[in-house]
Amino acid sequence: MVNIIADLHTHTLVSGHGIDTIRTLSEFACKKGLQAIAITDHGPGMRGGPDFIYFLSLKRMTQGIDLPIRIIHGVEDDIKNRKGELTLSEEVHSNLEIVLTGIHPFTWIAEQEITVRTDAVINAMQRGVVRAFTHPVGTYSDVYIDPVIEAAVKNNVAVELNATKLNEKKIVHNYLEKCASFGASIVVNSDAHLGEEVGTFGEAKRILQEVSFPKELIINSNKERIASFFRIDW
Ligand SMILES: [Zn+2]
Ligand SMILES: [Zn+2]
Repeated sequence: MVNIIADLHTHTLVSGHGIDTIRTLSEFACKKGLQAIAITDHGPGMRGGPDFIYFLSLKRMTQGIDLPIRIIHGVEDDIKNRKGELTLSEEVHSNLEIVLTGIHPFTWIAEQEITVRTDAVINAMQRGVVRAFTHPVGTYSDVYIDPVIEAAVKNNVAVELNATKLNEKKIVHNYLEKCASFGASIVVNSDAHLGEEVGTFGEAKRILQEVSFPKELIINSNKERIASFFRIDW
């Protein structure tokens, strides 16, 4: 079974609807034997999300955490228009190591029809800042999945297998088969909103095995692959 060594999508209490701190999430990640954790709180586009100042201070805030794990500084930002612009500025993004985007309730994109959503996601991928698209198949993430996966491949963006938002098996199988056939790189993440959820990949790993998903397309199963795909020092 595939070994996932890093959880690249987690939320602290700063997101407004999580309950734990960076330190607590990182401690849980260590206990799970992970080598890295990305702290990717929501941006200001999400209700209850923090302002840009939090993201500018993020590196300083993790300096005192002395744990045997690489803490990656990131965000799960929201798309604010059809052009694919995100709610945080490029200057703020450049201070972070990993920028994710996804579709969330009560945001601009969630109110749009599927054609506009799909355009906005593809345009966001083309802008070169987004490194992964979170929960592409989920309750509130309805997009035309084929062109989104194609755009992800073309723009070197990963698509996610979200381990805590797994849909019906048939939908997940179909999604993973499309990813494999398009040659799309995937990240397997918990999207933890509390410590106990960090590194919870069991069911997701079983499904990957069921569909014989190509191991070389799973980015967070390998340290070098993570470092080179996300262009981070590690
Ligand atoms: Zn999300
Ligand atoms: Zn999330």
